[in-house]
Amino acid sequence: MEVLYCGICHSDLHQARNDWGWSVYPMVPGHEIVGRVTEIGDEVTRYKVGDTVAVGCMVDSCQQCDQCRKGLEQLCRKGNTQTYNDRDRITCEPTYGGYSKRLVVREEFVLRVPDGLDLSKAAPLVCAGITTYSPLRTWNVGPGSRVGVVGLGGLGHMAVKLAAAMGADVTVMSRSSGKEADALALGADRLLVSADEKAMAKAESSFDLIVDTVPVKHDINPYIPLLDVDGTLVLVGQIGPLNEISTVPLLLGRRRVAGSPIGGIAETQEMLNFCAKKGVLPEVEMIRMDQINEAFERLERSDVRYRFVIDMATLMA
Ligand code: NAP
Ligand code: ZN
Repeated sequence: MEVLYCGICHSDLHQARNDWGWSVYPMVPGHEIVGRVTEIGDEVTRYKVGDTVAVGCMVDSCQQCDQCRKGLEQLCRKGNTQTYNDRDRITCEPTYGGYSKRLVVREEFVLRVPDGLDLSKAAPLVCAGITTYSPLRTWNVGPGSRVGVVGLGGLGHMAVKLAAAMGADVTVMSRSSGKEADALALGADRLLVSADEKAMAKAESSFDLIVDTVPVKHDINPYIPLLDVDGTLVLVGQIGPLNEISTVPLLLGRRRVAGSPIGGIAETQEMLNFCAKKGVLPEVEMIRMDQINEAFERLERSDVRYRFVIDMATLMA
């Protein structure tokens, strides 16, 4: 496929900087990829030249284990193959991601971009979108659900839009009130300043699900009491240690802390179709390839509203 646009996920920054300790260089980041099919292999049946397609965080999995058979390739027992900074299952060569002109992917890991979705904005859906859609679906969010979103960034703003489109009552929890107007415009019902202890205390036991997108080690203790009985705090951001957590509000309130990685291919397609139907798209700032270092620095400072997307036509061949 020819890559037309590629979103910049905070994971790209983590991996470029080796925050997780498993980076292999040289690396080509990028796992929010939208483009057009330019060539197909002999046995390809699902796509034809000219189709508008997307590729997210995975490009392969074993396709045989119980999880793969259920369409949960992200949970493949043998490990999925990541779009970049991983090894091809057959050739063992490094995988390279979407900050590039071209990509070769097996058809099972290619998504169809539904007609009507603006291609220049759709790329972040296949990571930021699915990573937030999947926990919303897993925990049955719908009309009347009370959903909190911690951190209003790339993932956070998609969580707000998706939960609102599912009919939930949505609260953004942000470090300051600076994004309040944005939060409301994105579809949230209110913004709660996480540093405001009084406001946080008032919100005790008022959420069914809280999606935490914070990309660094942080304290989740303030959020746990905000869950109602059987409520869940699902972590999708920080990969690695967290501050110590107290079990007191967990035990006494029968509350849960969980995690969630991206989503399966079928669910990703379902999410794309949902977004096309509901008109859900990320807020995008388009950049040129040569602005990537500046974009990384701004992403680190949370200075993006709310996702950078690279126009791949600006990458010199
Ligand atoms: P992002 O655009 O940088 O947004 C993160 C948000 O978290 C910021 O906008 C900010 O919101 C808040 N935040 C930032 N630094 C913080 C700090 N030091 N303390 C507290 N809050 C802070 O990042 P993203 O692209 O959404 O990615 C978020 C995380 O999810 C990354 O770690 C990424 O690697 C991970 N991720 C996981 C998966 C998965 O499969 N689970 C998939 C994709 C990404 P406020 O300004 O509102 O506080
Ligand atoms: Zn990502």
